[in-house]
Amino acid sequence: MSETAEQIRIYGTVQGVGFRPTVYRIAKTLGLRGEVSNDGQGVLIKVVGDRSTINQLIEKIHSERPPLAHIETITRHPLENANFPDFIIAASNNNTVCTQIAPDAATCSNCKSEIFDPLSRWYRYPFTNCTHCGPRLSIIKKLPYDRKNTTMADFNLCPECQQDYSDPLNRRFHAQPTACHVCGPKAWLERADGKPVSADMFSMLDDVDAVCTLIQRG
Ligand SMILES: [Zn+2]
Ligand SMILES: [Zn+2]
Repeated sequence: MSETAEQIRIYGTVQGVGFRPTVYRIAKTLGLRGEVSNDGQGVLIKVVGDRSTINQLIEKIHSERPPLAHIETITRHPLENANFPDFIIAASNNNTVCTQIAPDAATCSNCKSEIFDPLSRWYRYPFTNCTHCGPRLSIIKKLPYDRKNTTMADFNLCPECQQDYSDPLNRRFHAQPTACHVCGPKAWLERADGKPVSADMFSMLDDVDAVCTLIQRG
C-alpha cells in the first residue's frame, strides 16, 4: 500500500495533560513515522504511513486521550516533502498563542498511593503530581506550557525526577511541575516567634494540613 503524509492539528485543552506522550505511544505502536509537538495553537502532528493506519491513529487519540484532555477539533491536511525515519516528540514551537490550558487538577489516585507508600520517593510529599493531576493554570507564566515557562523553572530536577521526565513511557514524562522531596518546593509552618512547628521533611504534609485547618478556622 502506498504511503501518505498528513499534518494533523488538535485543538482544545491538549497541552500540559500528557497529550504528546499519548500520541507518541499510539503512533509507535501503529508503526507510524513523524513527530508530535506543542505550539501556540495546540498539538501538531506530522505523520507518514498508510491512510488506514493514520485513521486508526485519530480514532485511538479520541478513545485513549489522557484524563485531563479535552479535544475540540481535529483538522487534517496533506503534507508535502515529509521524511521521518522514526516517530519522535519534537520541541515546542513559539508562535501565536491561542490554546487552552487545563485548570489545576486534584491529586490522582496513583499519586495518592505514592504519598501514602513509605517506600516511595513521594512519601508524604505534599506537592506530588504527574501528567494526570497537579497544578497547571496557577503556575503558568506564558504558553507554550513547558517547565521553563512556569513558576517551577527555578527548581532544577534531581537525577531521578529528570529520568522520569525524559521517559515517554513514564507517568511523569514532561510532567512540567513534577517534583520530589529532593528537588521540589518545600513548605513549613512557623510559630509567631519564628520557630518551626515540625522538625523533619516527612512532617511537611502535617504542616500543610495544619495551615488548611488554620485557614478554615479563619
Ligand atoms: Zn498524579
Ligand atoms: Zn526530584
